[in-house]
Amino acid sequence: MVERWSPDSWRSKPAKQLPTYPDPSKVEAVEQRLSSYPPLVFAGEARRLKDSLAAAAAGNAFLLQGGDCAESFAEFHPNNIRDTFRVLLQMAVVLTFGAAIPVVKVGRMAGQFAKPRSADTEVLEGVELPSYRGDIINGFDFTPDARVPDPERMMQAYTQAAATLNLLRAFSQGGYADLHKVHQWTLGFVERSPAGEHFREIANRLDETLAFMAACGITAQTTPQIRETEFFTSHEALLLPFEQAMTRVDSTTGDWYDVSAHMLWIGDRTRQPDGAHVEFLRGVKNPIGLKCGPSTDPDELIRLIDILNPTNEPGRLTLIVRMGADKVGEKFPALLRKVQREGRVVVWSCDPMHGNTVKSSSGYKTRPVEKVLSEARDFFAVHQAEGTHAGGVHFELTGQDVTECTGGAQAITDHKLALRYHTACDPRLNASQSLELAFLLAEELKR
Ligand code: PEP
Ligand code: MN
Repeated sequence: MVERWSPDSWRSKPAKQLPTYPDPSKVEAVEQRLSSYPPLVFAGEARRLKDSLAAAAAGNAFLLQGGDCAESFAEFHPNNIRDTFRVLLQMAVVLTFGAAIPVVKVGRMAGQFAKPRSADTEVLEGVELPSYRGDIINGFDFTPDARVPDPERMMQAYTQAAATLNLLRAFSQGGYADLHKVHQWTLGFVERSPAGEHFREIANRLDETLAFMAACGITAQTTPQIRETEFFTSHEALLLPFEQAMTRVDSTTGDWYDVSAHMLWIGDRTRQPDGAHVEFLRGVKNPIGLKCGPSTDPDELIRLIDILNPTNEPGRLTLIVRMGADKVGEKFPALLRKVQREGRVVVWSCDPMHGNTVKSSSGYKTRPVEKVLSEARDFFAVHQAEGTHAGGVHFELTGQDVTECTGGAQAITDHKLALRYHTACDPRLNASQSLELAFLLAEELKR
């Protein structure tokens, strides 16, 4: 017997990683207000994304998901949104060329505010305070006041997500995403990059292809796909009171959708089959993701798949594998084989960030770019060996010139991390590290 689902049925299940607010009546008041606010996305758009992801599951499209680890109120600025959008578009063009299939673009943007933490408290110079859980919950400053969970933050997160989405929609449809423009930016990157020589061949071939298309009369005037693009949003569905308030019945189908983003995912720390997060997401019809870390057991994964996607609907479920470069070769094949053998349809996406976080000699949390690349390459190699499709990649990145991950053509070393280390949570690839990876992965995808 399947238990009845309702938008609040998660409340009777054990929930990890949720804040304890000092005054529950204030939380209720915020939930009330939010539930009367307009949806951020339309159910029809979420269905379109699901169709694209169904193509990715079948090997006919490739998912590129990326953006901040945690969006922040302090870094909210149109230039930051523009630059992250721009680097994702550039990566998408390079990957489209490599894979020769459409790339489905999904931002970790416009709502990626809540963070799961490995410890409830943080200690700094002998002072212990509650952990920072993302700007939608509490403040980053290391003071007792800032760390108290404040439900009013949900209102600010909603407003910031709405404004971010508004700009992303304008960028995708208003001419900013023109393929020729995106390609020109990439040529500029190739010119400036210390490793540019290595990328020139793909860039030149792209150049010739675009010139050929233009000569055939395929231009922005004749073909809207040259001028416009489709861009979707996603975040971890962690803060369930917020997600519930954003969950509505779609008037076209009568189904429930979480209209805070097109795609929602369950984190590696909240994927308990009988837990609140799995309960919540099983009932909304959006495409959803499930992070699979090294402790994922193959039998438990099948159980989770059957809870989250009981009809085996293609495009409904993306498994975001995040093992770490040293473990992916050992851990991933067993999961892949089990899911294949049991005939479950999923998009296999590779998150080569979250299993590769290390503490640098200078004390910063960082990720070596060569580990990121190594995990992604091994992930592709496993698929090749098993005769299955690598369906996508998932990155933490920013369009800003930060110094948070080590390595890359700019050769960021441990002692350079301090220069521009801006992240509110995990270290992100900067714009050039992201594009370098896209070029290197495009070569892999061509094989
Ligand atoms: C994240 O994507 O920021 C995250 C916390 O990932 P995971 O759940 O895989 O650790
Ligand atoms: Mn992260």
